[in-house]
Amino acid sequence: MGEKVLSNRLDRGFFKYQEEIEAAALKVLRSGYYVLGPEVLSFEKEFAEYVGTDYCVGVANGLDALTLAFRALEIGVGDEVIVPANTYIASIMGVTINGATPIFVEPDEFYNIDADKIEEKINDKTKAILVVHLYGQAANMEPVLRLCKKHNLYLVEDCAQSHGACSNGRMTGSFGDVGCFSFYPSKNLGAFGDAGAIVTNNEAIAQKVRMYRNYGSEKRYYNKVVGVNSRLDEMQAAMLRVKLKYIEEFTQERFQIAQQYSKKITNKKIILPQVRNHVTHVWHQYVVRTENRSDFIEYLDKQGIGTIIHYPIPPHLSEAYAYLGIKRGALPITEKYSDTIVSLPIYNGMTQDEQTKVIDCINDF
Ligand SMILES: *Cc1c(COP(=O)(O)O)cnc(C)c1O
Repeated sequence: MGEKVLSNRLDRGFFKYQEEIEAAALKVLRSGYYVLGPEVLSFEKEFAEYVGTDYCVGVANGLDALTLAFRALEIGVGDEVIVPANTYIASIMGVTINGATPIFVEPDEFYNIDADKIEEKINDKTKAILVVHLYGQAANMEPVLRLCKKHNLYLVEDCAQSHGACSNGRMTGSFGDVGCFSFYPSKNLGAFGDAGAIVTNNEAIAQKVRMYRNYGSEKRYYNKVVGVNSRLDEMQAAMLRVKLKYIEEFTQERFQIAQQYSKKITNKKIILPQVRNHVTHVWHQYVVRTENRSDFIEYLDKQGIGTIIHYPIPPHLSEAYAYLGIKRGALPITEKYSDTIVSLPIYNGMTQDEQTKVIDCINDF
């Protein structure tokens, strides 16, 4: 039966650039600077350049990037933020940690927020729209930008899964007032521990996040506000700088795997992912749907193929958000997706044999 194909393998992406990554880490160890030093500054400059924004501020993780973004926009208690119902729960927590209320909008057929269903949710309390480029596919930005302009709303982008994805040739993260990134190890640009960043063209927002991330101080021991400790460390920044140099290769490799899947998986029981015109998909996840999900997962598992569900419980039905009082049935498309989706193995360094095995097994299901 051969080796197992795991749902993800983070070691493979590392080994490909092992020497360079280890050298970068060793340099930091020997430098005497470990948190918010020259590597962080260089990474911030290089990542802003990559996304095409004026500023980047490194923080400890993706959730902090979201939380501090909404805080910098002064969105909190009494405010509403339009959010996609079909997303990872961290997107929503970035809003609710600040005391604001998430207003859920159903997804389109590409799993991203359905722009046609946003305007009906806008009222006097609405302060912002949060777009998540889920699974690595850029969302439909033109109508969202129009709505933000028309109703004078902030736009925040959750780019935790979309490093390098574009909408109409423009990089995700560069549309919003703030773009929020995670560099959690499994993300398309992954660190070797937790890491995150915000990007923006607004100097005041960058300045605020820089202050909040370090106990609310701009100058050491002079604290303007009650901030948090959400600093990026030198080790992560140094290793991210190495991986950022090769991000096009990483993305290209995911693209090749996704293309194989889309071309060669022909089993009619499996609904394959679609890509919207004029956007790019960087394939953070390759998500299919099937009505016989538990049979499908069990069958693949028996064949030695691992799968995961991103995500089995939509945020509005999770225990954490029971207080919002949104019942099952309220967001039927989101709920239907969460009951039928499965993510196939896709990762940097996935061999041709592994891909073939996944394809052949699925076609035999
Ligand atoms: C991973 C992720 C986050 C949170 O990032 P962390 O670094 O894990 O805090 C937020 N939103 C989305 C869509 C994610 O995939």
